[in-house]
Amino acid sequence: MTGFTSKILHADRRGRIEHGSIHKPVHTAVTYAYDDAHDLAAVFQGDQPGYTYGRQVNPTVTALADKVTLMEQGVVTAAFGTGMAAIGTTFFALLRAGDHVVASSFLFGNTNSLFNSFAEHGIEVTFVDATSTDAVADAVKGSTKLVFVETISNPRTQVTDLVGIGQLCRDRGLIYIVDNTMTTPYLFQPKNVDASLIINSLTKYIGGHGNALGGAVTEAGNFDWSTFPHIYDNYKKGDPSGWAIQQIKKKGIRDFGASLGPEAAHHISVGSDTLALRMEQACANARVITEYLNAHPAIKKVYFPGLPDHPEHERANELFRYPGAIFSVELTEMDCFEFLNKLDLVICTSNLGDTRSLGIPVAHSIYFEMGPERRASMGIDDSLVRFSIGIEETDDLLADFEQALR
Ligand SMILES: *Cc1c(COP(=O)(O)O)cnc(C)c1O
Repeated sequence: MTGFTSKILHADRRGRIEHGSIHKPVHTAVTYAYDDAHDLAAVFQGDQPGYTYGRQVNPTVTALADKVTLMEQGVVTAAFGTGMAAIGTTFFALLRAGDHVVASSFLFGNTNSLFNSFAEHGIEVTFVDATSTDAVADAVKGSTKLVFVETISNPRTQVTDLVGIGQLCRDRGLIYIVDNTMTTPYLFQPKNVDASLIINSLTKYIGGHGNALGGAVTEAGNFDWSTFPHIYDNYKKGDPSGWAIQQIKKKGIRDFGASLGPEAAHHISVGSDTLALRMEQACANARVITEYLNAHPAIKKVYFPGLPDHPEHERANELFRYPGAIFSVELTEMDCFEFLNKLDLVICTSNLGDTRSLGIPVAHSIYFEMGPERRASMGIDDSLVRFSIGIEETDDLLADFEQALR
């Protein structure tokens, strides 16, 4: 059995599961009883598997985390209440004041804001153009511990030099964190470019239905954590490939409380069963629509790695199964608000990776807080509209764009 969907569809059932249930049930109990107090102590001390308290661990959440591990072909996964919680608590658990991080300057807006907060707490962050490995290499110094990138940036769809940076991180012994949210493990597996830890916002494509928030950090198995100075002795149990996630679970989830709830985990798990099918349709739609828009006189520019004039078109072709289903456009004359208001099927909203097609005026919403100067430095035009294309029938979407631009 090698297919992406065959594997994840049957993942729960092949574990030990209650009553022969075909997927993991929703376990809502916050706490777990032990007949013998010795067993409780053994679980607390990490000598025996088991459940203690819902903030730390829950069977439904663990089943979802295992499914994400399978999708990423990783070692082990920690699940969180949101994608932001996954990123924030990973930094909190692994880094110390005085450490230095090199991050892509084209990050998801809230991640960018979060890293600026970490900078205020003594973790130095240098933002560089991660489409170039040289730019990352130039920023690395003695105190650098970690490099953080996204696969495809949004909204301008820059494609990171994932292979080159992976090689650099391996040569220099740096932790390499890749946020795979835009591509998902169906289009790309960061494990294959030497990523140490893989971030996924489960809220987006993996859940897919816009009905639950969640996040995940997956250990890829490429980094030797026995060389990393900030792992506490308590978490140096077993193979070093599990140490970082162990520390993230204890310091990040247990102490920080960024836990994923069982109902949300269940929604996300059911959604994830159809990830591959949804990506196939969404990516095929995005290809047809970007070709149409690219040739339309009302559209000044389409930013999409699938188009031959995209600066990283070749790289995207080499790395990803498809170049994704998210793109942005700049308009020639039409007002971006008018454009969005005329679209009927495409919903004007934030979020991405939904089954439905979504559009948002970037400068006026998600990038508003940054101010005009930072937006200009990131190449965010005032007319820029970002689209996350869903799984509607292609002809219906095309007809909607046609009537809106008429
Ligand atoms: C949405 C998103 C996040 C944050 O995920 P949430 O689940 O919304 O907290 C992180 N990274 C990327 C690339 C995203 O698109």
